[in-house]
Amino acid sequence: MELFEYKTLFVDVIAPVPVKGTFSYRVPNELNDMVKVGQRVAIQFGPKKIMSGIVARITDEVPKVDNVKYILGIIDESPIVSRQQLDFWQWMSDYYMCCIGEVMQAALPSALRLSSESMIELSPDYVLDSQALNDYEYLIVEALQIQPKLSLSEVSKIVNYRKVMPLVKTMIDKHIIVMEEDLQDKYKAKYERFVRLSGDYHDDERMAGLMDALNRRAPKQLDVLMAFYVLGGSRETDIMVSPLLKKADANLSVLKSLAEKGVFELYEKKVSRIARSSKQKDVSDIVLTPAQQQASDEIRQGFACNKTVLLHGVTSSGKTEIYIKLIQEAVDKGRQVLYLVPEIALTEHMIDRLKVYFGDRVGVYHSRYGDNERVEVWQQMSEFASTRGVEHQIVIGSRSALFLPFTDIGLIIVDEEHDSSFKQVDPAPRYNARDCALVLASMHGADVVLGSATPSYESYFNALSGKYALVKLTERFGGARMPEIIVSDLREENRRKTMKSHFGSALYSAVAQALEKKNQVILFQNRRGFSLRLECGVCNHVPQCINCDVSLIYHKKSNMLRCHYCGYTMPVPDECPGCHSTDIRMRGFGTEKVEEDLQLLFPEASVARLDLDTTRAKTAYHDILENFGNGMTDMLVGTQMVTKGLDFDNVKVVGILNADGMLSYPDFRASERAFQLMSQVSGRAGRKGDPGKVVIQTYQPAHPVILDVISNDYDRLFQDQMTVRKQFSYPPFCRLVQIRLRHTDALKLDVAADSLQSLLRPLFGDMLLGPEYPVVSRIKNQYIKQFLVKFRRDVNPAKVKQLIARSLEQFRTSPLGKSVTVQIDVDPY
Ligand code: ADP
Ligand code: ZN
Ligand code: ZN
Repeated sequence: MELFEYKTLFVDVIAPVPVKGTFSYRVPNELNDMVKVGQRVAIQFGPKKIMSGIVARITDEVPKVDNVKYILGIIDESPIVSRQQLDFWQWMSDYYMCCIGEVMQAALPSALRLSSESMIELSPDYVLDSQALNDYEYLIVEALQIQPKLSLSEVSKIVNYRKVMPLVKTMIDKHIIVMEEDLQDKYKAKYERFVRLSGDYHDDERMAGLMDALNRRAPKQLDVLMAFYVLGGSRETDIMVSPLLKKADANLSVLKSLAEKGVFELYEKKVSRIARSSKQKDVSDIVLTPAQQQASDEIRQGFACNKTVLLHGVTSSGKTEIYIKLIQEAVDKGRQVLYLVPEIALTEHMIDRLKVYFGDRVGVYHSRYGDNERVEVWQQMSEFASTRGVEHQIVIGSRSALFLPFTDIGLIIVDEEHDSSFKQVDPAPRYNARDCALVLASMHGADVVLGSATPSYESYFNALSGKYALVKLTERFGGARMPEIIVSDLREENRRKTMKSHFGSALYSAVAQALEKKNQVILFQNRRGFSLRLECGVCNHVPQCINCDVSLIYHKKSNMLRCHYCGYTMPVPDECPGCHSTDIRMRGFGTEKVEEDLQLLFPEASVARLDLDTTRAKTAYHDILENFGNGMTDMLVGTQMVTKGLDFDNVKVVGILNADGMLSYPDFRASERAFQLMSQVSGRAGRKGDPGKVVIQTYQPAHPVILDVISNDYDRLFQDQMTVRKQFSYPPFCRLVQIRLRHTDALKLDVAADSLQSLLRPLFGDMLLGPEYPVVSRIKNQYIKQFLVKFRRDVNPAKVKQLIARSLEQFRTSPLGKSVTVQIDVDPY
C-alpha cells in the first residue's frame, strides 16, 4: 500500500439508496492505507444525511463529477463483504434491473447499516467506567444518561460529524452502546457473568492452603470453590455464575467474598443467543435404502458432469436423509454448505434434524430470528473465513441466506425448489433465490441439488432437456404407501343435502373416523379470515377497501372487516350502505370459519389454526406445531402454512376444503400451483405406517388437475401444460419482464402509461403486452397499470433489458414520468 501514500485516492461507494450506480468519494490522505474494498465507510449523502456505504472500488483516477466529497470515516477495520459478494450483488443488480444499493439493503442485516436516523442507546449491561472512556465517548455516554435514545444525527451535534460512525462502531464493539431496534425482539448481544480462577491461585500448594483455611472458617465459600471444580472449572476453563451458585446452593455475596480474597475474578462475557446443541448422532449411522442409495449415486454422477441435479422424489421418500449424506461429504472436504428452504418450512424440527448430525456447525438464518441473531450468524461466518474454524460451516436458511459472507461453498441444496417464497416480490431486488443460488454456486464451484416432490416446470423442463441431471425417487421410505385420494363432489353433496356447513359427508366421516382412532387431521383452506366477503342479499353490494380494489374479509374474532392488502379495517355494517337492507350474507369462507365449524361439529376434539393471523407473536408458530407434534391438538387447520415440510407420523387424514379456489386463479401457473399445493398437503398424510386418506372437496371433480392429483401423475399434467404454454408462449418457452407503473391519480397514470408505450412499442412490437390493469388494480390508494415484455429464449436477455432500461430513463426525464413510481420485475413468477 506504500504506493498510495502520496496519492489522492477515490472510492466508489455503494449507498443504501434506490439510485442507480455507485457514488464517488475522496479518501482523506491519512486514511489511504486503511481503506479497503468491502469496508463500511461513513458518507454524507445529499445536503444533510449521513449513512454507511460499502466501498466497491478504490482508484486514483479523478472522477468526472464536480465537488467530490470526502468520506467521513472508515467504520470497519477489515472488510465485512468480500469481492465475491460484491460481484454477486452486481450480477443481481444487472439481472433483476435494480440498483446495487437496493441489493445491499437486502443483503446486509439492518444492524450493520448505519444512517442519520439510526438510533443508539446505552447497552443494558453497561457499567459506567469513566476512566476507560475517551473524551468523545464520555460526552456520548453523558448525553445518553440524560436522553436514553439518540439518533446518529443528534450524536453528530455532540461530536464532530466526521467521527460519528467510526466512533459509534467502536462503542458498539466495546459494548458501551447498542443500536436500538424497532422490533421488540431485535438484537442486543447477550452477556452472562462468569468466574475464573485468578492467577494467584494457579499454584497447587496455595490452593490447598486456601481450602484448608476455608474449611475451618468459611465452609460456604468452600462449597462454591468445590462446585467450581465439579462443574469442570480449571485454570483454563471459566464457569458461568448462575449454574455455579445453583450447584453450591449459595448466593452471590459468597462468591463476592471469594472475589475480594482474590481467588476468583468475576467478569462478563458475550454468549451466543442462538441455542447451542451438540451433535448426537453420526451421519454414518444413516443407512440409506437401496432406492435412496441409487439416487445419491446418480446425484454424484450428475455432480461429476458439472450439472445441477434435480431430485424429484415423492413426499416422504427420504430426500432429507440423502441431503445429510451429501452435506457430510462437502463438510469433509472442508467446504461450506448452504441449505435453502422455504420461509415457512423452516421449523425447529427441520433445524433439529440437521443439528442432530452436525451440532453447532449448523447456523440458522431466518427472518423470524431477530436482527441481532442474524448479525451473530453473519459474524460466525466471517470467523470461518478467517480461521477456518468449524462454526457455522453449514447454514440453513430462507432466501436471504444467499447473502451471507461465504468464502468457499461446496454444496447448495434448494429444498422444495418449486416454492413461491423463494421469490421476493417486494421490494427490489425482486429475485428468485433458487435461480440466484445457481449463479452463486458457479462463482464458488459448488454443486447444486434442487429437490422437490413437485418440481417447478422451469426446472423440470431443464432436466428433461438435459441441462440438469434428473434423479427420481418414486417410493416412500419404509414402504409407507401414498395416501388414498377421495374426491368429494360438492354438487352431489349439495343436491343430497349432506353438507354440514362446509364439510361434505366424505370429509366429515373421514375426520370422525380418524378422531375415533386417535389419529390426527390436517385441513387446508387457502384463505384466512372467517368469511371472504359480506354481501347484501338485496342489492349485492360488497364492502370494499377504501384504499384498494378488493373486497374486505370478515374476521370474526376481532369482529372487523379487514383488507389483506393494506391492513385497513372497519366495523361490520349493521345495514347495507347502498340500500339500507339488513339482509347481509356471508360468502366464501376462510380458515377461521373452518376452525369454528370443527369446534361445533367435533366438540370433543381440540383444534388449532395455523395462518398469518395466529402466528404473529414470536413463538406462536413454534408453539402451535409443538402442540400438534406432541398430540395436544387433534386437528390443525391452516393456509399454505400446513402444506410444507410438516412430518408428523400420526396424521392420517388430510382435507382440502375447497379446491376450486386454486383451480380458477387467473394466472398461467394456476394448474401448476394447484397441483403442487394439493400434492404437498396430501403428502402430510400417512407418512409412517398405515396409509393416509386425503379428501378433496370440489365442484369440478372431473377437472384435469384433480384427476392428475388423484393418480399422482406429475408428468401428464406437465406435458399438457407444456403444450398450452408453448402455444400461448409462456415460460419456460419465453422470458418475461414486467413493468408496473403506479400513481394516485388514475388519469395521470393513463397518460403516463401511454407515453411509456410510445417508447416501448417501436422497440418490441407485439412482444409488448399492455398497458393494462392487473387483477387488483389499486393497492394502498395507488392505481396500477402494467406492461409485460415477452421474448423468446433465443433472444439475448441482456439486450432486451438494456432497451427497456434506456426507454425508462427517457421516460423518467418527462415531468409525468418523474411523478409515477416505476417497478420492474424480471421473471415475475
Ligand atoms: P422427504 O424430505 O422426501 O419428504 P423425509 O426425508 O422427511 O422425506 O423422510 C420421511 C421420514 O422417513 C423421516 O421421518 C425420515 O427420518 C425417515 N427416513 C427416510 N430415510 C430414512 C433412512 N434411510 N433411515 C431412517 N429413516 C429414514
Ligand atoms: Zn344492499
Ligand atoms: Zn386495502
